[in-house]
Amino acid sequence: MTIKRRKTNRAKLIIKMVRLAKDIAKARDDYTCVRCKKKVTKVNCQGSHIIPVSKSKLLQFDPDNIDTLCWHCHLSFWHKNPLEATAWFRSVDNDRYERLLKKANDPNTRSLKEFELTEIYNRLQIIYQQYVDNLQKR
Ligand SMILES: [Zn+2]
Repeated sequence: MTIKRRKTNRAKLIIKMVRLAKDIAKARDDYTCVRCKKKVTKVNCQGSHIIPVSKSKLLQFDPDNIDTLCWHCHLSFWHKNPLEATAWFRSVDNDRYERLLKKANDPNTRSLKEFELTEIYNRLQIIYQQYVDNLQKR
């Protein structure tokens, strides 16, 4: 007998939050690869976590922890040599890296309750809507 595991509401919410946080990061970066500076769209426009999800569950849906990369820079640079990629990132924006590390290592970091996740999700939706509105004004 196989047991089909269903995703919990919490897991589904987190997936939506990560997607939204990536959409915010892409709009913030003006749909441009932060490494090679090419304009990117669709599958070539990828949201890449700076501090990996394995190191911080909370930073996975923080737009500050996400950069826009093209497919090539994401796979052939960022994930191919993480040490080199991190050194490059620090050379570009060390303050941001230090800020993210501090958040990732925060001892107060705990598992958020579902209502807290929902509050963050609602905030992310407002932030994203502001980017969409600004893009329409251009
Ligand atoms: Zn690139």
